[in-house]
Amino acid sequence: MYIVQVASELAPLAKVGGLADVVCGLSWELSIRGNEVEVILPKYDCMRYDQIWGLTPSFNDLWVPWFGGGVHCTVWFGFVHGRKCFFIDPHSGDNFFNRNTFYGCNDDVLRYAFFSKAALEFLLQSGKRPDIIHCHDWQTGLLPVMLFEQYTHTDMQFQRACYTIHNFKHQGIFGHEVLHATGLGRPEHFFDHNRLKDNHNHLALNCMKGGIVYSNFVTTVSPHHAWEARFTDQGYGLNHTLHQHHQKFGGILNGIDYATWNPEIDPLLAARYSAETIQDKYINKEALRDRLWLNRGVKPIIAYIGRLDEQKGLDLVYHSIHHALSRDAQFVLLGTASNHSIHCKFQDLKHQLNDNPDCHIELSFNEELSHLIYAGADMVIVPSAFEPCGLTQIIALKYGTVPIVRSVGGLSSTVFDYNYSEKPMLSRNGYTFDNFDTYAVESTLNRTIGLYYDFPHEFRQLMINGMNCDYSWNHPGSHYVNIFNLIRHK
Ligand code: ADP
Repeated sequence: MYIVQVASELAPLAKVGGLADVVCGLSWELSIRGNEVEVILPKYDCMRYDQIWGLTPSFNDLWVPWFGGGVHCTVWFGFVHGRKCFFIDPHSGDNFFNRNTFYGCNDDVLRYAFFSKAALEFLLQSGKRPDIIHCHDWQTGLLPVMLFEQYTHTDMQFQRACYTIHNFKHQGIFGHEVLHATGLGRPEHFFDHNRLKDNHNHLALNCMKGGIVYSNFVTTVSPHHAWEARFTDQGYGLNHTLHQHHQKFGGILNGIDYATWNPEIDPLLAARYSAETIQDKYINKEALRDRLWLNRGVKPIIAYIGRLDEQKGLDLVYHSIHHALSRDAQFVLLGTASNHSIHCKFQDLKHQLNDNPDCHIELSFNEELSHLIYAGADMVIVPSAFEPCGLTQIIALKYGTVPIVRSVGGLSSTVFDYNYSEKPMLSRNGYTFDNFDTYAVESTLNRTIGLYYDFPHEFRQLMINGMNCDYSWNHPGSHYVNIFNLIRHK
């Protein structure tokens, strides 16, 4: 099968969160199963160009219809750790992808509408005819809309679209301008409840809704979250649309790429280890302490790695730092905030705790450091308000780092409580809590830290249980292949 992934992120060169890891891991899994896989991305100025091999122009004269005129683009080709990638580089005064940032611009919807249109034009003009075009999140939600409203009238009537939603909170809300820009036009056609009209703001259109309505299949990143999105407020207003399209909607739990996230082969660690040589994990703990100027000693290290966004339960993260320090634990935080006031709040905390030898707060995006933290920490905390899948806990498990999570979305499908789960003891791999409050966090931290200090053998077994879990792309890969086979033109 010939599959093209169209996405706004790809690890490790353009990564904001889990979407980048998924596109990276899934495209590799699909290709080792014998499929032809290509990835189309914007050519951002702020990508990690050191992660691209052999970057060369591959299609020089791509003209993308835009606002009744056309934008001239170059499409570049390069390998990203073996993945075949094409990069759209528009030559226009808008400088859509030369903003020194991935997201956060006022014209984001226009930027990604352009990207989606350019990806389709590239396929059309270069004669590429994939069986499946796999789109991700609101950024490429308009691609299936354009595919079926505009491109089936060209030579692309056999291409099928799969649409994966990684986060329902961000949907890409827009108005007439984007219809005009993309040539979709016909506001009377698209301002329809069964097409793109936003379910709440009837004067607006919704990219994600478009992706759901027009794709041949829609997935989200865990079965539990598929249920939450349909039946709770976590669908962020799209519940009814998901009901309408429930026959083509399902959840597939994300995997992680064990070629990247594996303590046995990870080149970014101070020492490599497996479940059999787990004592070598502690070499990484000391290396992490040295790097972050933390005290040495018997204390456990608790880590938080992730975006500093309200979704992640930031008040609880904040609270857990103080609580951990009061319970003889150390704390390491690695995160970035796109919101200025959140950034300032954590910046202030960093200043307050600057001289504390048991705490380090790192407000940056640092892929290399994240590997050392996963390996060096004893526990990670993920107290999210909602979490479609969550990768931090899955990565932590592989590194023998015990996850402490709130039982929502994909967290509840991957972490099973040491004391309360109904699973057999050897399948329990962490600590969970339900309530979104500080009492729940405190008591769960106390249980975890208590096991660490009082029952080190049991704690070690819990670490090993986590390392023995299989959250590779193997299972999810076959689910995606089944879906692609179901929808492809026969
Ligand atoms: P989300 O997609 O909501 O951001 P996930 O848990 O699915 O959350 O994925 C987060 C990914 O991003 C993980 O690979 C995590 O290690 C990585 N990550 C998040 N913040 C940072 C950071 N500041 N530095 C390095 N890696 C980060």
